[in-house]
Amino acid sequence: MPANRHECPESRQLFQRSQRFIPGGVNSPVRAFKGVGGTPRFIRSAQGAFLEDEDGHRYIDYVGSWGPMLLGHADPDVIAAIQNAAISSSSFGAPTRIEMQVAELLCELVPSLEKVRMVNSGTEATMSAVRLARGYTGRDKIIKFAGNYHGHADFFLIAAGSGAMTLGKPNSPGVTIGTAGDTLVARYNDLAQVKEIIEAHPDSVACVIVEPVAGNMGCIPPAPGFLEGLRQLCDQHGSVLIFDEVMTGFRVARGGAQERYGVMPDLTTLGKIIGGGLPVGAYGGREAIMDFVSPVGPVYQAGTLSGNPLAMHAGYATLRKIADSPVLYEDLEETGQALEEGTQRNLDALGLPYVHTRVGSMGCLFFSEDPVLNYEAARRCDTDRFRRYFHGMLEQGVYLAPSQFEAFFFSTQHGPAEVEHTLKAQRVALERAHQS
Ligand SMILES: *Cc1c(COP(=O)(O)O)cnc(C)c1O
Repeated sequence: MPANRHECPESRQLFQRSQRFIPGGVNSPVRAFKGVGGTPRFIRSAQGAFLEDEDGHRYIDYVGSWGPMLLGHADPDVIAAIQNAAISSSSFGAPTRIEMQVAELLCELVPSLEKVRMVNSGTEATMSAVRLARGYTGRDKIIKFAGNYHGHADFFLIAAGSGAMTLGKPNSPGVTIGTAGDTLVARYNDLAQVKEIIEAHPDSVACVIVEPVAGNMGCIPPAPGFLEGLRQLCDQHGSVLIFDEVMTGFRVARGGAQERYGVMPDLTTLGKIIGGGLPVGAYGGREAIMDFVSPVGPVYQAGTLSGNPLAMHAGYATLRKIADSPVLYEDLEETGQALEEGTQRNLDALGLPYVHTRVGSMGCLFFSEDPVLNYEAARRCDTDRFRRYFHGMLEQGVYLAPSQFEAFFFSTQHGPAEVEHTLKAQRVALERAHQS
C-alpha cells in the first residue's frame, strides 16, 4: 500500500475523466469535496469498517455510504442474500413474499407503523408522505425546519426568509415561487416559532415534517420537549406529524428516534439502513392515513422498481440481523461512548472548547465554541479549521464526511482498535488544524 495518502494519482485521473461526462464528476454533490477542497477519493471496495480507494489506500470509514451501512461493508449475510436473490431474476413488477416480509418486520420494529409502502429512495419516501398528508387533510401548506434535509423534491428546497415568519424562498433555480409559497420554514428546536406559524395559518397546515434527530446540519439532537411539543401542536391543529427517519431509523435505536424519545408520529419515512446498501425508501404510519394511498385510496403513488427483490432481500437480511441481536445497540452505544470520551479528552488536552454531539451511532464534532441547537448556530462554525482537520484525518487513514454540516456514522464493525486509531489521528489532526 502506498504510504502517503496525500497522493492519489489514480483518483485524481478518474476525477478528471469523470468531470468530462458527469456534472462535477459526481452523482451527488457533496461527494465532490467542495466543502473541503482537494481530490475526492474514488473507492473501489470496502470491507467491515474499512474503505479502499483506487490508489490502494485504506481508511476507517465514518461515512457508511451516508448512513446505510450499520452492519459495516459487505456483511456476509447481506451479500449472500443479494447473490441468492439475483439468481432468480432482479425484478418482476409483481407482488413478492419478500416485500411482504420486509413490511411485516418494519411494522413490528418501528412503533408507530401499521402499514408501509416501499419506494426507491428517501427522496421518494418524503415526497410521497407529504403528498399523502396533503391528500388526507385537504390542506396545502407544510412546515419544515431550516437545516433539515428531506431529499430533493421541489417543495423541500426552500430557505427560510430573513424574518422567521416570511414565506420561504426557493434555494435552487427550478423551484417555482408558487411551490415555495406552500412551504413554511421554522427554526429547529424552536417550538414557540412553530406555534406562531401554525396559528398564523389556521386550518391550512397539512403537515409538520422533521428530522427527529437532525443529521444534515451536522448532528443536532432534539431539545427536551421539542418533539413532544410538535406532537401536541399537530394534534391541536389537525396537522399530520411526519418524522423523517430516513437517517435515524435503525440508527439511533432499533425503533428509530420515535422509540428513543417516546414520541409517535402519524407518518414515518425510512430509507438508508432498511435497504442494506441498495436503493430503497419507505413511508408508513397509521392505517387510516396509509389507506388513502392508491389503489385503496385516492392519493396516487407508484414505482416500476418499488419493492425490488434484490433490495428487499438485502433489506430483510439487514433488518433480520438487527431484530435478532439483543446486544447490537448496546455495542454501538459502547463504541460511541469510547469515541465521545476520547474526543473530549483530545479537546481538553488541547484546550479547545468545541462541541461534540452524539446520538447512538451518529454524531458530529462542531468547530464551534457555542452550543449548536439549530442551523444558524451550525453555520457559525469555523469551516476553515474543519477543512484542515478533515484533511489531517484523511491523511492518517480516517475517512470523514467532507463537510462540517454532515454527521459521522459508525457501524457494528468499528471495534476498539478502530476507535483507538481514530482518536490518535484526531489528536494530531486537531493540533495541526490549529497551527497557524
Ligand atoms: C438521506 C436523507 C433523505 C434522502 O434520501 P435519498 O435516499 O438520498 O433520496 C431524506 N431525509 C433524510 C433525513 C436523509 O438523511
